[in-house]
Amino acid sequence: MADPKEGMRPVVRFAPSPTGYLHVGGARTALFNFLFARHAGGTFILRIEDTDQKRYQAAALDEIFASLRWLGLDWDEGPEVGGPHGPYFQSQRTALYREHAERLLAAGVAYRCFCSEERLARLRQEQEQARMANGLGYDRRCRALPAAEIERLLAAGAPHVVRLKVPDGRTVAFHDLIRGDIAYASAELDDLVLLKSDGFPTYHLANVVDDRLMGVTHVLRGDEWIASTPKHILIYESFGWAPPVFAHMPVILAPDGGKLSKRRGAASVMDYQRAGFLPEALRNFLALLGWAPGDDREIMTLEEMARAFALERVQAKAAVFDETKLEWMNGVYLQARPEETLLADVRAAWRQAGLDDAALADEGYLKKVIGLFKERSKRVGDIAARSLYFFRDPGEYEEAAARKHFRPEALPLLDAVLERLAAQEPFRADALEALFRALAEEKGVGAGKLIHPVRLAVSGVSFGPGLFEMLEALGRDTVVRRLHRARAHVAARG
Ligand code: GLU
Repeated sequence: MADPKEGMRPVVRFAPSPTGYLHVGGARTALFNFLFARHAGGTFILRIEDTDQKRYQAAALDEIFASLRWLGLDWDEGPEVGGPHGPYFQSQRTALYREHAERLLAAGVAYRCFCSEERLARLRQEQEQARMANGLGYDRRCRALPAAEIERLLAAGAPHVVRLKVPDGRTVAFHDLIRGDIAYASAELDDLVLLKSDGFPTYHLANVVDDRLMGVTHVLRGDEWIASTPKHILIYESFGWAPPVFAHMPVILAPDGGKLSKRRGAASVMDYQRAGFLPEALRNFLALLGWAPGDDREIMTLEEMARAFALERVQAKAAVFDETKLEWMNGVYLQARPEETLLADVRAAWRQAGLDDAALADEGYLKKVIGLFKERSKRVGDIAARSLYFFRDPGEYEEAAARKHFRPEALPLLDAVLERLAAQEPFRADALEALFRALAEEKGVGAGKLIHPVRLAVSGVSFGPGLFEMLEALGRDTVVRRLHRARAHVAARG
């Protein structure tokens, strides 16, 4: 039975071209479409716009899929390719676009243009020299070709494109849900190409035909497409179709107000994965690039974001990509993660840092180490980089800290600690803490006088997880061995 609400449910699509990797801008577009659809129980279509043969990259396609999956943005539709989860591929639909171009030709609202590239280039040059306001590079000559001439050229197999007849003196206006009312003069628009000479559609034709055939109700896309929208509206009109609702998302700028650069935000989604960011952190961060739930919340699950999402709350002004905030968010999510779920990634980072399989064999130990470090880390890689001394004795000691904590007067204290630790049972954080406190009192020194040199001795650095948890995790043998080494080092420093 048909669902009575069916007609009200939005249908949106993310329509990447596999000409490059998925960057944060594209990922945000995908995410907003996803949230908008999920919010209203609508449909989120993935459509691969792969009709530009020259710029097609198979590797980019794989990365787009991998990026969306990693971010948890599952798409809904694509029945004719691969079942309920298969995306649409425009390259498999080219007959449809040709058919639709033919329809416009038959209706007299499009025409075949036989102008050669050379002729168009020459016209463009002449127009520029003459400083014509409209230097579009053609003179619409082919609009007026007699039918017999067209027949002759077609019979001779003359290459040609199909262009839309853009009406003169028109204002093409539309209401953008984010940007408000927008109007273009048709004089600014060329007789845009619908079908290229190789028979493939242009982005404009394929995009409009598909949005129509797929029942897309809302086109949510990046700001950079706004100038295409009046062209699309003219194509809708030419077919006699009502256009969908448009919403163009704000550009994303670097904190200094400039464009995103490779180092700031222009990296691909998978670069962020490789750099140790968690998908839930990146997508939470991306959601806030131009949108806010309207209360104080910043940390939100995908479900919470979907529940709160509304296009009315997407701002028109540029969003700022603040990598410090992303790092902070990643730290928040890292803390919330069960150690188990970080194991594979951190293990890979440890391996990269040179640890071998034998060192990484004890999963229980690995999880304990991850647990000790995840709270102080911003990226997965930080956990690995900062915890190497859990697998090998420190090769050297941080010099500034050694000058402070490895003075000769530390020697008798290290000796006393060594003696007590060797006999301490059980070797557990709480008992170790009691031991240190008691010893400090006995010696009439602050606990820091023991804690700092011991930390430096066992880890080589002056910061890290709580000392007593750390000692427990390292175990007595390792702690005692390292204290002996440090003792020798302190004695040698003099
Ligand atoms: N294929 C276009 C892109 O690469 C789609 C733009 C649109 O959403 O209409 O972003």
